[in-house]
Amino acid sequence: MNGTVFEHVITGAGCAGLSLVWHLLEAGVSSPILLIDSRESYRNDRTWCYWRVEPTPFDDLADHSWNKWEVHAHSNLQATGASDKYPYLHLRSDAFYNRVLERIAAAPQVKLVLGEQIRHYRVEGELVILDTTGGEYRGRRVFDSTGMINGSHGEVRRRVAIDSGSNGRGGRWLQHFLGQRIQVNRPVFQTDRIRLMDHRVDQTRGPHFIYLLPYSETTALIENTYFFNAPRSPFEHRAEIGHYLGESFGLGRDDYEVLGEESGRIPMGVAATEPVQPGGPSIDERIIPIGIPGGAARAATGYAFLRIQRQSREIATRLVRGRRLGSVRLSFGSSKYRLFDQIMLDALVRSPELAPLFFAILFKDANPGSVVRFLTEKSNLLDDLEVMAALLKPDLVRMLFRLTRSGNPSPLLSPQE
Ligand SMILES: Cc1cc2nc3c(=O)[nH]c(=O)nc-3n(C[C@H](O)[C@H](O)[C@H](O)COP(=O)(O)OP(=O)(O)OC[C@H]3O[C@@H](n4cnc5c(N)ncnc54)[C@H](O)[C@@H]3O)c2cc1C
Repeated sequence: MNGTVFEHVITGAGCAGLSLVWHLLEAGVSSPILLIDSRESYRNDRTWCYWRVEPTPFDDLADHSWNKWEVHAHSNLQATGASDKYPYLHLRSDAFYNRVLERIAAAPQVKLVLGEQIRHYRVEGELVILDTTGGEYRGRRVFDSTGMINGSHGEVRRRVAIDSGSNGRGGRWLQHFLGQRIQVNRPVFQTDRIRLMDHRVDQTRGPHFIYLLPYSETTALIENTYFFNAPRSPFEHRAEIGHYLGESFGLGRDDYEVLGEESGRIPMGVAATEPVQPGGPSIDERIIPIGIPGGAARAATGYAFLRIQRQSREIATRLVRGRRLGSVRLSFGSSKYRLFDQIMLDALVRSPELAPLFFAILFKDANPGSVVRFLTEKSNLLDDLEVMAALLKPDLVRMLFRLTRSGNPSPLLSPQE
């Protein structure tokens, strides 16, 4: 172990770890920062999309953006929304990684260690000691985005959140998906709009939809997404994408080429997106969960990028103002969004077949600006009323009423939260 004591140690240098270091530097933090990640290098391993409801330092990296979206429930129910004010931005992860890595390279107080896995940690007096496959590091405070640091006895657990293949705390609610970037041999895509959710696919394993982002008339990212833990192998995901392309665009397997793939598993549900408890109040200020383990994924949607930016900004602001960090993990949105997510997911647990109708009605009948603000936790009272009014449709209310009366959860899912 070398003698350096880092003021801030950030475990996991993915979206949350790199965003935090960016915001710390932006806020003028000059004390030593250590970032550790088990990955050896960075590549374009994912795509981040979000509605630009507020500026982030990475908006200008967006290589695509759209102002229109469609949500399909079934062949007779589709919603189209549009907003010039809130474009839906698309960011390649390699562009994001490169920007932050360049900034780190120019910041002598930041040390980035790649290729080392965190094995164990212990708290000794004022310090947290991390044991990695490459050695030991000492820090006064750890921001953990790996989900490995959990429990008061220095246990290192399996990452609870994403990309691990583990179901983690997500229980039945788990967003898992596989996306393919494809090149098609003839123009088929409408480039001015995205298909945010197309439920015109098999719903027998629970909420299931296609997400389609057209880059041009012949290229797109197409993702096959499930909202709960129905095991699907990559092979099955690919076959379902192929089937959809056939049904929707008349494309055979020879009509398109796969240029790349990405996949993920994001815990959903209110309990799953509670942050990992790092081990009680005594070390609350020393080990702060961030990113997905810090509760950054919105319970009902799994969107996390914008929340990660907000969390990182807030941590940096608190640090420079000398304020406590203990409650940073509680700073996502207000309790009204938690309540809404809980009610919605409870209803879907009981009746997953509601999902297509629910999302289509939401996007069809509420003002697009209100829906976007609601989904990004920027809504005001009028927006909330607009969203509620849209959802209080006789069909949905009747179904909810029936469900409350019967109290029988769907045989597909059983409530876990
Ligand atoms: C394919 C994909 C697409 C997504 N698209 C969107 C989107 O469009 N919009 C949106 O809002 N959200 C999206 N998300 C969700 C979320 O924004 C991302 O998952 C985001 O990367 C989460 O940030 P994070 O830092 O918590 O996790 P990560 O970015 O995964 O970073 C965690 C880091 O921890 C490291 N690590 C893990 N265990 C250890 C260990 N033991 N030792 C050392 N290092 C370790 C990993 O190598 C990784 O670099 C997507 C997720 C995926 C997977």
